Amino acid sequence: MLRAVNASRTTRWITTAAAALALAGCGGGSSPPAGSGPVMATETMAVRRESPHFQVLAGQAPAAVVDAIADRLEAERGRLLSDLRVADVSQVRVRIWQDQAAWNAEVVRYFGRSFTTGGYIAGPGEMRLLAVDRVAVNATHEFAHIVSLHVNPGFANNPRWLWEATALYENGELVDPRTLGYMTSGRPPTLQTLNSDISANTQVYEVGYTLAEFVVATYGRDALLGLIRANGDIAAVLGLTPAEFERDWYAFVRARHLS
Ligand SMILES: [Zn+2]
Repeated sequence: MLRAVNASRTTRWITTAAAALALAGCGGGSSPPAGSGPVMATETMAVRRESPHFQVLAGQAPAAVVDAIADRLEAERGRLLSDLRVADVSQVRVRIWQDQAAWNAEVVRYFGRSFTTGGYIAGPGEMRLLAVDRVAVNATHEFAHIVSLHVNPGFANNPRWLWEATALYENGELVDPRTLGYMTSGRPPTLQTLNSDISANTQVYEVGYTLAEFVVATYGRDALLGLIRANGDIAAVLGLTPAEFERDWYAFVRARHLS
């Protein structure tokens, strides 16, 4: 991942995001919002909710959607900070798109290419969301990413498997491994595969929860935090090779979820 180390904080984050091309380009809910209106090139936004923790901006999104997002963020904020042992996070701006075409245009503008996503973060101070059915869950997923950046400011997609695993686990997004053919048939993905670009492989969204679950259940929460701080250096934190980690993770999933 490229870094503009001498740039300002804001510029650095945007540069990092553009370089990664998928900074928290999180899947989850790609169906267009129900009742979306005519195609718009842009969606004009205004502040719809504000607290010391979150400033929520939206355009066409109905009040019920804005409230569901703001309420879930407020409800989960304290736990996420506590879980990741972060003392505080300054106010986060939340931008909500209702119009699919306007959202797609913004993704292309920001990342320089098109890909399917329901939300992403633009640095540690802002998340952007499409008002899909599960948008409130996506919001806390993105907030988990933001909190994890306070554990390690250089953590975004570095490595991608642990970046997503942490957010999925903290947000309770377990995908039952019994529904994943490659897991039931003994063909779990490697960490290298899970680190693939979002356009090449999205299995990390399916198994990410269990990766962090395995770390916490086996080595404790301090080990997960240690891995975040060490950008996923398994050998340094856990004393395992990546192959040993993959083997032990799959044995854990088989015992906990597949037996
Ligand atoms: Zn994510």
